[in-house]
Amino acid sequence: MASQCCGGSLFVILTLLPGSLAYAETPPPAAYKDKAGDDEPVIEVRHLGEQDGWRGAETANFRLWHQHTRGMAEAVLRTAERARAAQLRKWFGAVGPNWEPKCRICLYSSGEAYSQATGAPLNPGGGHTDIRADEGRVLSRSIHLHGTRAFLLNGVVPHEVTHAVLAGRLGSGRVPRWADEGMAILAEAQAHIDMHLRFLPRWRADDALYSIRTLLEMRDYPEPHAIGVFYAQSVSLVDFLTRQKGGAARFAAFVRDGERDGYAASLRKHYGWSFAELDRHWQRYAFYEKNTETASSGG
Ligand SMILES: [Zn+2]
Repeated sequence: MASQCCGGSLFVILTLLPGSLAYAETPPPAAYKDKAGDDEPVIEVRHLGEQDGWRGAETANFRLWHQHTRGMAEAVLRTAERARAAQLRKWFGAVGPNWEPKCRICLYSSGEAYSQATGAPLNPGGGHTDIRADEGRVLSRSIHLHGTRAFLLNGVVPHEVTHAVLAGRLGSGRVPRWADEGMAILAEAQAHIDMHLRFLPRWRADDALYSIRTLLEMRDYPEPHAIGVFYAQSVSLVDFLTRQKGGAARFAAFVRDGERDGYAASLRKHYGWSFAELDRHWQRYAFYEKNTETASSGG
């Protein structure tokens, strides 16, 4: 099939990004970072040959197949490498060894091509990540993307790379969706995160929020009509918990223990709270303190 990403094979889709729907009406922020800072090592990109109309390029941890310019391929790969290192450091304290095999990235020429090749729903910009695993051990990672350059570099690439980073690291099974999506959205630019959060107060007023216990114990995505609330509340809760003592590393341990021992026990162990106490503290942060902070700092 012409639009199939080179070397494509069917994996079980584990992490979807329908949340990009939320970006549709707002232009992405202008500034994005695809150049190394002064103190960062240069990330080497090697361009490969062409295969079935797809051009290849690779770095230490990623192999990209695309139909774009070399400059675009390099920007996507460098953003992916930076996001991978940053997320590994943030949640697990160290970057560790390179991925073997490399994580495959397919960058499609359009949303239609993406949807046709992967069977994923058509959306204005986004992607998903497939993980093949055997008893908790990750065998391969595969990211499928489409969208504008700014959209990809500010949001979709760091988001999907975070899913690839978290796979196999938070317990023996699949990463629970609320944590997986909350952690992945936090890797995006602040303007993207804010787009997820903007309707939270309205949903709260409509009594549409999940109870904390329900959210933490959810195994999968909710019904499509509730996906916006689910993403927003998940990212807000993960953001709140990573600001507590112990930061991101404690949050990762909380999820790992929650998956093994249950979330009531893990919540008590890591934060000293019951579900009701977490709900009270989170709501104060999400609907009072945070808004005051934002207002006083002018955005
Ligand atoms: Zn996602």
